Amino acid sequence: MSTRGAPGRRATVASVADMAHSRARSADGGLTTPLGQVRHATRQGQAIARVLDDLVEFRTAQDIHAELKRRGHRVGLTTVYRHLNLLAERGSVDVLRTPSGETIYRRCAVASHHHHLICRFCGRTVEFEGPEVERWAEKVARAARFHDVSHTVEVFGTCDECATRTADRRRARRP
Ligand SMILES: [Zn+2]
Ligand SMILES: [Zn+2]
Ligand SMILES: [Zn+2]
Repeated sequence: MSTRGAPGRRATVASVADMAHSRARSADGGLTTPLGQVRHATRQGQAIARVLDDLVEFRTAQDIHAELKRRGHRVGLTTVYRHLNLLAERGSVDVLRTPSGETIYRRCAVASHHHHLICRFCGRTVEFEGPEVERWAEKVARAARFHDVSHTVEVFGTCDECATRTADRRRARRP
């Protein structure tokens, strides 16, 4: 057995083994995924992460699934959903609900708490921080004696470009 070569690969195997070991040892350990699934999940997870890196706007799981298929990855829609939920739990992907009830996902530029302005026509997204919103949410919660609160504030609208385009089209239609 060689002691040289593929140190990266060995390190990966070792760390996975360590994870399994610590899982067996600690009852409270966060790892509940069986070994085989970890390796499998990593490959699919990487493909999904790459797609998320390339997609600029918020997209549905179906969109992401279609993009994976276009790139030649054989991943089921259920798997895509599972990975997206995992990424969302870790905070590495933002999840929103559109006014029409669709769930959309996006890898955000900032990891800290923030809000979004989303164009409902083209999906253009602007991230913003809202100190006023934070203060307001705290105040409302405190007044109602709520603890450990969190909030989601997203603003949907028509971006300037889409508004201009719609106006142009309306003008063109006029006799
Ligand atoms: Zn975001
Ligand atoms: Zn727009
Ligand atoms: Zn906030």
